Amino acid sequence: MANKSNYEYLLSDLSKLKGVGAKTTSLLKKKKINNIFDLLWKLPKSYTDRSHSIKIKDLKIGENQTINITPIKYQFPRVRNLPNKVSCSDETGEIDCIFFNSYEGYVRKILPLGKEITISGKIGFFRNKYQLTNPKYVSEDSSLIKQKHNTYSLTEGISEKIYNKIINQIIINLPILDEWHSKNILDKFGDVKWNEAIIELHKSENIGKFKKNFYKRLAFDEIFSTFLVNSEIRKKIKKIKKKQKLLDNNKQNKIINKLDFILTNDQKKTLEEINNDLSSTNKMFRLLQGDVGSGKTIVSLIAAYNSINSGFQVAVMAPTEILARQHYNFAKKLFPNGINIELISGKSENKSKKEILRKLADNEIDIIFGTHAIFQKKVNFNNLGLIIIDEQHKFGVNQRKLLSDKGGNNCDVLLMTATPIPRTLTMTLYGDMDLSIIREKPKSRKPIKTYSKLESKIDDVFKFIKKEIKSGNQIFWVCPLIEESKKLNHSSAVKKFEYLEKLFPNQVSLLHGKTDFNDKEIILDNFLKKKFQILVSTTIIEVGIDFPNANVIIIENANKFGLSQLHQLRGRVGRGSKESTCILMFKSNLSENAKKRINILKDSNDGFYISEEDMKIRGFGDILGFKQSGIKNFKLADPVHNSDLFLLAEKEIRRIENQNEDISRFKPLIKLYDRADIINDIA
Ligand code: ADP
Ligand code: MG
Repeated sequence: MANKSNYEYLLSDLSKLKGVGAKTTSLLKKKKINNIFDLLWKLPKSYTDRSHSIKIKDLKIGENQTINITPIKYQFPRVRNLPNKVSCSDETGEIDCIFFNSYEGYVRKILPLGKEITISGKIGFFRNKYQLTNPKYVSEDSSLIKQKHNTYSLTEGISEKIYNKIINQIIINLPILDEWHSKNILDKFGDVKWNEAIIELHKSENIGKFKKNFYKRLAFDEIFSTFLVNSEIRKKIKKIKKKQKLLDNNKQNKIINKLDFILTNDQKKTLEEINNDLSSTNKMFRLLQGDVGSGKTIVSLIAAYNSINSGFQVAVMAPTEILARQHYNFAKKLFPNGINIELISGKSENKSKKEILRKLADNEIDIIFGTHAIFQKKVNFNNLGLIIIDEQHKFGVNQRKLLSDKGGNNCDVLLMTATPIPRTLTMTLYGDMDLSIIREKPKSRKPIKTYSKLESKIDDVFKFIKKEIKSGNQIFWVCPLIEESKKLNHSSAVKKFEYLEKLFPNQVSLLHGKTDFNDKEIILDNFLKKKFQILVSTTIIEVGIDFPNANVIIIENANKFGLSQLHQLRGRVGRGSKESTCILMFKSNLSENAKKRINILKDSNDGFYISEEDMKIRGFGDILGFKQSGIKNFKLADPVHNSDLFLLAEKEIRRIENQNEDISRFKPLIKLYDRADIINDIA
């Protein structure tokens, strides 16, 4: 080790380690352990204490024990399949060491006759004699055996012994890094240095000591590095200069006055924040966050209208074609003649697609709606000034940054999500963007009444539906996707449709992921026009779509969903001014825990609150499918238990931003935490 303060050692390849060959390296790589740093987070689960030796006469059968013995006699049978045997003794008794599948030379080498050897392992008893089968802990140097030996949840093919050896080797060679945190921060963790903390982390007796300073410091490092990268991306994007948009207030207000509702204060406030960004000379990279039904679409479309009137094109991307089409229809109603509006779908006819592409390039289209298809390579805009992206909470930082680059410097970016997330996660997930939040829902909204119901009582549900239909209301019936040998299957929705069809002839339609695109449009259009009353579907309706007249939603197998997802589904109703009902169906009686969860939903209609509770119950990775987002799971930090550290990290980032502090001292931290992919252009 040439340079003790060099973090590069930690990033070096596993082959740098003594005793780690190609086989071990490839086994570890399979577990995404690619360098020495990665190994630091593979922590002991428990340990076996082999530090005290005892005499043979005191051995306890079935326990892991350590003894000092002298080999006195070999037995190497010439018959295949019989084990090699070495009789050993101390002054109090005898024990046999038994070796299956071993070579004579190996046995002679590790247990030489007449030498004192320390051995450790689980003691057996056979034909009136103690024995130790295939002993793994054998050495002339008793200090190597008499230790606490950590146990790990092991990668197959790597033994505990090798693992301990590797980790010990790393700990001994751990570089002493220059401190990157301010004194103020360090004080909060008892001044514990990075390498001290790592050493503590790996000590057997410290397993699970989450409240200790060494643990908190390392968790903080991890949180902080994520925040710092996000903050740098944000700063960098904000520095990009663009052609400012000239907003026409008159035109904007004409549109607002045309609406059959009044914007809420939060809608006005967020629109103003967006307008300020549009008219500034810096590129916008903003997230509009608001619970389901809070009215984000209209805010974004007014911003789009303002951009168009300033001479730019706008692209609106939605996660599903249904939603893209709905936004498109809304825009057609909202915008005056003269604004050229188009919808591009993955399934558009080749001919019409070609024509759309030509028009986009020739600036004959002002605003285009679509799914990710609008960002394919062959799509070229003439003068793109704003990208709006709806309901893409699963986008990770990398994907968002790509999007921001895609539009070019003059292009502002507005993302929208109805996924309220716990406060501690805001910086983790969205710290690279400026944030506008709609907290207030339109006043006309009534809370959605939520019930749970056993499937065996489904007849009650049918009765209820009949009544609702009589009063002119419409119903969503949601069936979960069934996973059959990795293929997603719509059979539950199909079956339910066939069943309901018999009960409610000509009043039911079916929609699922495989429904033909044209049929989908017709079905949704008919539902909107109240041509039928019950829409059976899979969770395809989860994101975004808006049918103000539907005020009942039945969710089957509700235990398959997380709270936040149920809240999203439920948000499909309660959009008009009528009373709405959500019925959660269960196959069997609810456990206490499940009841607790459902009660949270029954009691609250506030997505932020529900997401906090959901995270407490299910943990961070799971709540909203963030696992699929490419957002790395934390190695140590836990958003539920370390919320104080998340808030502290946020405060420290803001301080650094406000004081415009040089961040070069954090370079090792960022490099170590593998943010190199993003950091390349910022560090
Ligand atoms: P989300 O924020 O979930 O995307 P939408 O934008 O789809 O919500 O809005 C939900 C419904 O509420 C739509 O029918 C929309 O026209 C309506 N809406 C939006 N703003 C208001 C408001 N201020 N008052 C009443 N209704 C509104
Ligand atoms: Mg929406």
